[in-house]
Amino acid sequence: MKYVGAHVSASGGVQNAPLNANEIGAKAFALFTKNQRQWHAKPLTEDAIEMFQTNLREVGIESRHVLPHDSYLINLGHPESEGLDKSRKAFLDELQRCEQLGLSLLNFHPGATLRKIDESKSLQRVADSINWCLDQTQGVTAVIENTAGQGSTLGYTFEHLAQIIDQVEDKSRIGVCLDTCHTFVAGYDMRTTSACDKTFAEFDQVVGFQYLRGMHLNDSKPELGARVDRHHSLGQGKLGWEVFRYIMQDQRFSEIPLILETIDDTLWAEEIASLYGFQK
Ligand SMILES: [Zn+2]
Ligand SMILES: [Zn+2]
Repeated sequence: MKYVGAHVSASGGVQNAPLNANEIGAKAFALFTKNQRQWHAKPLTEDAIEMFQTNLREVGIESRHVLPHDSYLINLGHPESEGLDKSRKAFLDELQRCEQLGLSLLNFHPGATLRKIDESKSLQRVADSINWCLDQTQGVTAVIENTAGQGSTLGYTFEHLAQIIDQVEDKSRIGVCLDTCHTFVAGYDMRTTSACDKTFAEFDQVVGFQYLRGMHLNDSKPELGARVDRHHSLGQGKLGWEVFRYIMQDQRFSEIPLILETIDDTLWAEEIASLYGFQK
């Protein structure tokens, strides 16, 4: 089975996200459990937690198909101790919010060197951060997202993802999320069936499909290898439809949340319907 959805709004409270997902015909969704541009947030109330779980049940979406995304401010590979400490505490809070909501995944961007330390040192810090946070929580898997490689960000090669996983102690609670736009602008082609075969074979060899916990389905405004993160609506960018048909027809992408982060939310219902239309 395929579980397609979008990164929906949680404005007015996390409990609204399942309802917003249901309205567009989604069987999966992503959300921010707090304001993604602020460090601090009020704790989730008992009421919000209960309503979130009730709404999730009512719309028939399983918690394993919800892929929360962490704050953009967090940098688990931060070169300086103050920034690193702040990021670790904020990430721990994000994991705890997922625990409270009964969710099993937390999607995050690995971090950035800020051009102050080596990539390998920064990747080591990301893994140390994950170990520190996983030690203090239960039942939530940290899901590393591959990135576009813009600026000094880490995670734009499959090797970066593998390097983090290698240094994480609890392999059962670490996974990855591939973003099709990020993968493409990072230099991995997916415009044809044979290009998809090659890129995903490389992913399997370097990281392994057993770690794939989710996908972000986005077309790309920039060209292959541009290292610039600009999403586009499906079929309207430089990637085109082929990769999305490929994903919908390949068993390796079953059972995990497949999440749209495309730029026009008025097209989400249509994009979801088109994706399900590719199923054989
Ligand atoms: Zn993404
Ligand atoms: Zn992006």
